[in-house]
Amino acid sequence: MGVVTLIARVARVAVALAAALGLVAPAQAELRVVAATTDLAAIAAAVGGDLVTVETIVPAAVDPEAFEPRPGDLEKIRNAGLLVRVGLGYDYWLDKLVRQAGDKRLMRGGEAYVDASTGVPLLEVSGQSVINEGGHAHGVANPHYWLDPENAKIVSLGIADGLARVMPADRARIAGNRERFVADLDRALARWTAQLAPVAGVKLIAYHNSWPYFARRFRLDVIGFIEPKPGVAPSPAQLARLIAAGKKSTVRAIVHEPYEPEDASRFMAQKLDVPFVLLATSVGSVPEAKDYFRLFDHNVAILAKALGVPSQ
Ligand SMILES: [Zn+2]
Repeated sequence: MGVVTLIARVARVAVALAAALGLVAPAQAELRVVAATTDLAAIAAAVGGDLVTVETIVPAAVDPEAFEPRPGDLEKIRNAGLLVRVGLGYDYWLDKLVRQAGDKRLMRGGEAYVDASTGVPLLEVSGQSVINEGGHAHGVANPHYWLDPENAKIVSLGIADGLARVMPADRARIAGNRERFVADLDRALARWTAQLAPVAGVKLIAYHNSWPYFARRFRLDVIGFIEPKPGVAPSPAQLARLIAAGKKSTVRAIVHEPYEPEDASRFMAQKLDVPFVLLATSVGSVPEAKDYFRLFDHNVAILAKALGVPSQ
């Protein structure tokens, strides 16, 4: 037996042994999708079904605006079969990680790269890219587009296209999963729209400017923000002006985001004698928002209740 044959035989025995011990992955391993946020992870999981495992970079219980990558995140990206990001500067920190990983497939234009904002009709487009002190950018456009369920249809299409590029043999199953997701979403959206219809046009004040997409979809009118700029706390004079504006336009509730300091929002709710309503900005940002559907189930129910809509 030649040396090469011997090495080959030893290698075969080693592989068989490793397989027997469960040390190697099965041949039909699922594709690893890495999503920047829990919202995109939830949509990717719906579209990928059992063809994928999905990992998230910004954990559910962390303020995405104050997020900084940890050492394990580079490892996640190195092992990604598909990368899905929010874009618009919201997850600007991802660019550095992808550069460090050095895999062209995961870079802008690469086959395993999905910018979920592609094709979404953007609001508050300003043409300037500014990363604010609080972390994420509101410069190019408002980045909170996943808070309109209609936009999730566009996001799911981008993810389905990305998955089909990297696993073309499964194109039909991916398309089927996406169609089911969209059908479920249509049914749920009809329910959410009906729940909030009685308060169409209601005026609200929010802490952070997270809601333009949500508000447009459900016909809510956010007349002002407690933060003068994203990531900046208000001065007493700014609060006083906003309270006066809130009284004048009969604001009915103060909408507050998880992880933001509550004092100013609670103070304003008290001054205007309206409810303080904590809404989920992302999947997992409050315990009830366990997936993409329950994010809206929760927000719609809690808002309708705070605004005095009789429960159906
Ligand atoms: Zn924001």
